[in-house]
Amino acid sequence: MDCIFCKIASGEIPAKIVYQDEKAVAFEDINPQAPVHILIVPRKHIPTVLEIEEGDGELLGHLFSVANRIASEREIAGRGFRLVMNCNREAGQTVFHIHLHLLGGRTMGWPPG
Ligand code: AMP
Ligand code: ZN
Repeated sequence: MDCIFCKIASGEIPAKIVYQDEKAVAFEDINPQAPVHILIVPRKHIPTVLEIEEGDGELLGHLFSVANRIASEREIAGRGFRLVMNCNREAGQTVFHIHLHLLGGRTMGWPPG
């Protein structure tokens, strides 16, 4: 399958991996939008949030748990951080394999752009 995040998860394409286990991989975003900008992706290929099924609940919970762990390690947990999952064109999704953006290390604006 021609999916860049599947290829990063399998090791076919290099990335700055910060965490991995049997269900998920986390790596530095190549174009960081904050001092901490890490992407947490499931190994399972799910193109957008629209393809998430009831049975994926545990996997999604795991993505949040990985994000929490990394936020603590990077010492942004107490200060605050943002988790974002974009869906389709108007939200700005460019890679069609779901990923949680972990953003932190600076004050975030609201509403988001
Ligand atoms: P989204 O716009 O939500 O689909 O986010 C895609 C993100 O993936 C963007 O923030 C990109 O900078 C990032 N990205 C794209 N290719 C790579 C790559 N090879 N390694 C790391 N991050 C990437
Ligand atoms: Zn994929």
